[in-house]
Amino acid sequence: MIEYSLLLAPINWLIDPQSRTFIAYGLSSLVLVLLWVGLSWQQRLPYLKQLTQKSYWWNTSTRQDYQLILLNAVLFSILSITWVVFTITIANSVFKLLSTVSEPRAYAEASSLLLFSLFTLALVLLEDLSRYALHRLLHWRFFWRIHQLHHSATILTPLSFLRVHPIEKLLYQLRSATVYGSCTGVFFFLVGEHPQAWLIFGISGASLLFNALGANIRHSMVPISYGPLEKIFISPLQHQLHHSDQYNRKNYGAIFSFWDRLFSSWTAGDKQAPLPEKEKKLLDQLLLKSLD
Ligand SMILES: [Zn+2]
Ligand SMILES: [Zn+2]
Repeated sequence: MIEYSLLLAPINWLIDPQSRTFIAYGLSSLVLVLLWVGLSWQQRLPYLKQLTQKSYWWNTSTRQDYQLILLNAVLFSILSITWVVFTITIANSVFKLLSTVSEPRAYAEASSLLLFSLFTLALVLLEDLSRYALHRLLHWRFFWRIHQLHHSATILTPLSFLRVHPIEKLLYQLRSATVYGSCTGVFFFLVGEHPQAWLIFGISGASLLFNALGANIRHSMVPISYGPLEKIFISPLQHQLHHSDQYNRKNYGAIFSFWDRLFSSWTAGDKQAPLPEKEKKLLDQLLLKSLD
């Protein structure tokens, strides 16, 4: 069984519903792009056509993406069990720490529906806030040396999401385990049972919705804006602006844009992404080819 999962590890990012790059999320993103193109067919058709170009998926930038994906998959498949142990250790430490100041199980009698809902909400908000904070840190001084690899992509495809330095991936994993472990420890202390976030098909409902509703489009050349919802959610265009030279210090958020608004790093996705010259040329070439 272990050998089997090790064999599948290099393609786990494609077949695991917990991963943003799960193949079904790719399909749901395509449906969203089709709907978006359908709203203004004549103007937007080139964006759809570029997705069918080999040069969009196979160029210097994407080849670097693929190499990094493989490297990270191999490196982190060895570490996978470590995260479970680390999360449990954090949860235990938080439980013990809280036990020194108060009696556990104070909310053991409360409605479990309410408690699980609160747990899900707290987890989603803390997950997103910690992502925002880490991403902002990665743009600061020494950390930028690590994160600039992600920003060096000249063509954004949904797989550019995985174009990250192994140290950046390690930092995100540590963050995730710390947040999940702490929330679990607090819940266990207050209620006395193991918490469970809302699940759909056994996966966190919040991340399933986020991924199914087009999280993959943010790393693409398709500039979809969410209109009035821009103030709440990070749209694909907002993240594409983050990848441009001009707005590189804006829109650090993952799911919600209100962290960026709260900490003055937000710019709305209501403008044309001012792509750097090099990117613009490549995109023009792709669009021209697709019009042939
Ligand atoms: Zn960044
Ligand atoms: Zn990005």
